[in-house]
Amino acid sequence: MKVPELPTQSSGTLYVVATPIGNLEDISARALRILAEVALIAAEDTRHSARLLQHFGIATPLQACHEHNEREQGGRFIGRLQAGDDVALISDAGTPLISDPGYHLVRQARAMGIRVVPVPGACALIAALSAAGLPSDRFIFEGFLPAKMAARRARLELLREEPRTLIFYEAPHRILECIEDMRLVFGAERLALLGRELTKTFETLKSLPLGELYDWVAADSNQQRGECVLLVAGWEAPAGDEQVSAGVMRVLDLLLAELPLKRAAALAAEITGVRKNLLYQQALERQKGA
Ligand code: SAM
Repeated sequence: MKVPELPTQSSGTLYVVATPIGNLEDISARALRILAEVALIAAEDTRHSARLLQHFGIATPLQACHEHNEREQGGRFIGRLQAGDDVALISDAGTPLISDPGYHLVRQARAMGIRVVPVPGACALIAALSAAGLPSDRFIFEGFLPAKMAARRARLELLREEPRTLIFYEAPHRILECIEDMRLVFGAERLALLGRELTKTFETLKSLPLGELYDWVAADSNQQRGECVLLVAGWEAPAGDEQVSAGVMRVLDLLLAELPLKRAAALAAEITGVRKNLLYQQALERQKGA
């Protein structure tokens, strides 16, 4: 029987390296070492990243890996990794794959059994959340909303009763219309935070109810420039309002079909953020009616 040939060389490692979102001091010592040591850097925009590398005196060759060529180029990077070379993946700013290219390459590498190592660092959504003073134990990241108003409002409607803190990226030229739609859908009283130009000279973190935030941004065109993250407080059932939404009742009913009443109410509260006692009462009503 023929003995399979043993690989003479094991695969290299794909490092997913976060770079700064503005302030160059935010790059980590580990990121700099890895960027200097790898054989090749896969970059979203090679010209943009060349400036970053030059600043830190790093001469590692760059190759493009952007959303238009990621699938085709992936094979080239995988080939280098399989040949034993270490490769670093970076995007223009922050953490690759977070509203940035890299997903296909990482997925392909993992499927081929290649070691993928995160080198964490700056990420705009986490930076904003860490300083927002909004509940941070649970949150959802929605990335960019649709550019067209009807689709954007429809997306926001689906999120109207989301109890976790909501996080969005938005382009500066759409920030005002986006806040306007949020005010319409979530209500003018819902607390929000605009994080703009984080870590840069004109960094702004402004926390106001959506109605006031809209007026504040509308009154100052400077607030409609630069890079922005929007955070919106999660939905809370109005105090004293004993109404539970149809969506929450659906969750409760599904759990009641499988679990004892108390456990179902507790889990439904965990999932939806609605008060446990209120759900317990609803579950009792359901049982009485059954
Ligand atoms: N991968 C990046 C990260 O880790 O945050 C995000 C890339 S995404 C293409 C770019 C968006 O991130 C911008 O439109 C903005 O919404 C947000 N962003 C990036 N840098 C920012 C900053 N310094 N301040 C506020 N938002 C920022």
